[in-house]
Amino acid sequence: MFVEPHIGRGESGNLKGKGWIELICGSMFSGKTEELIRRINRAIIAKQRVEIFKPKIDTRYDKIQVVSHNQSSIRSTPVDFAEDILLLAGNSQVVGIDEAQFFDKEIVSVVNILANQGKRVIIAGLDMDFSGKAFGPMPELMATAEYVSKVHAICAQCGGIATYSYRLSEEKQKVMLGEKDKYEPRCRRCFLK
Ligand SMILES: [Zn+2]
Repeated sequence: MFVEPHIGRGESGNLKGKGWIELICGSMFSGKTEELIRRINRAIIAKQRVEIFKPKIDTRYDKIQVVSHNQSSIRSTPVDFAEDILLLAGNSQVVGIDEAQFFDKEIVSVVNILANQGKRVIIAGLDMDFSGKAFGPMPELMATAEYVSKVHAICAQCGGIATYSYRLSEEKQKVMLGEKDKYEPRCRRCFLK
C-alpha cells in the first residue's frame, strides 16, 4: 500500500519545489478511484485543503461526485479543460484528479505547475484503452510523477491478474461511457483470445 512521503512543510512557508505528483493507474475495475478516495480522505481528516477535479466527459454516474464502482464517493469539480484546474485549485494543498486519461495533453504541464507550487497532486486514470494502447496523456503523466502505483483487477475469465479492459461489444469508439455491462477485466492471455 502506498505510504505518503514525510515532507515537513518547513518554517518559512515557502513551498516552492516541495510538492510532488502521485499517479494511480490500472485497468477498469482495478480500484483506482477507491485508492484516490482513500488518499484524499486521509488528507481531509488531517485538515488539509483539498480540491478534486475530473473531466466533464466522465458523467457516468454523477456530475459532481467522484464515484467509484463500489459507490464510495467524494465531492469533485468537473472541468472542460486541464487548464481550468490551475484557476480553480486556488490555495489547496492537495489536488486530486480522477479519470485523467480523458484530459487534453495540457494536463501534463498543469500538474507539474501545481507540484512546483508546493501542492501534493494525486492523479488516477486508465493506463490503457480497450485496444491495449496507452491512453491519452497517461504515459507522460507517469513519466513525470514521483510515485506511480499500478493497481490490478482480477481476470473475469481465469481469475489471474488483469491489466486489460476488454470491451464486450463491437463498438470502435475510444471513449465509451457507461461501463460494467460493456467491459470486463482480463489478463494478457485472456485478452488476446
Ligand atoms: Zn485470464
